[in-house]
Amino acid sequence: MDIQPETPWDGTPDVSSRIVTAIGRIGGVLRSGVWAFATAEGLNPAQVEILQLLYRRSRGVRLTWLARQLSISSASASDSVASLVSKGLLRKARDSEDARATALFLTDAGAALAGRAGAALGFADDAAAALPEATQLALLTGLFRLIAGLQQTQRFPELRACLSCRFFEPDRYPGQPTPHHCALVDAPLPLKFLRIDCAEHEPADADSERRNWRIFT
Ligand code: SF4
Repeated sequence: MDIQPETPWDGTPDVSSRIVTAIGRIGGVLRSGVWAFATAEGLNPAQVEILQLLYRRSRGVRLTWLARQLSISSASASDSVASLVSKGLLRKARDSEDARATALFLTDAGAALAGRAGAALGFADDAAAALPEATQLALLTGLFRLIAGLQQTQRFPELRACLSCRFFEPDRYPGQPTPHHCALVDAPLPLKFLRIDCAEHEPADADSERRNWRIFT
């Protein structure tokens, strides 16, 4: 005889499990958008992601950093980079922080292509923008909390986020509606303006970064 569940919802996965499933599905939709764009441009998805990672970045990046961001081997990253250099979308130059090292920069053509890649994923931005502002803010806060938790697992690649930036001053105005501050522009930094990928970002020391992410845990 079949065992009947006590309630019709007994088989429903936990909320946490469904959050992870939903994020995975959204990631899949975004990846397929990148895939379609890459195919149309004669590139592979990893190459498009490299162009996006370098977009609006004034300082060059090392190959090892790219490999970490994409969770691929240095050898695979090297192949993708070599192909992008041969297509005139990336260039190599001396790293400003270490004259013996090589850094990678977008060419003008690479920057234009990265901009078009962003526009190709505009459908996702449109869907997020259509949510009520309070929902957007609650979602952003929840995602910061989730990222903060994942940071503790050492599985999350380095971000150019306010919370890992040396210019970020947490709780500079305690008890105020806008407690945080950006020392670069010397202005209070409301939650709704906290960045996940800022072109002016400069890494904070490890202790400060851990303390900053704790704001969201
Ligand atoms: S806005 Fe940019 S420069 Fe300012 S704290 Fe955030 S990441 Fe750093």
